[in-house]
Amino acid sequence: MAFKGNKAALPSKPCVACGRPMSWRRAWAKNWAEVKYCSDACRKKKP
Ligand SMILES: [Zn+2]
Repeated sequence: MAFKGNKAALPSKPCVACGRPMSWRRAWAKNWAEVKYCSDACRKKKP
């Protein structure tokens, strides 16, 4: 039996710049609440 439901357990939220959903990354564990952009490119992009 395939276990595909694991990903859904991770939090995700849309990037404020491009709107794409970004999935939780281990590197963001400490500052997940502050993560707003999916990439450096989006971070540089001003709304
Ligand atoms: Zn983005």
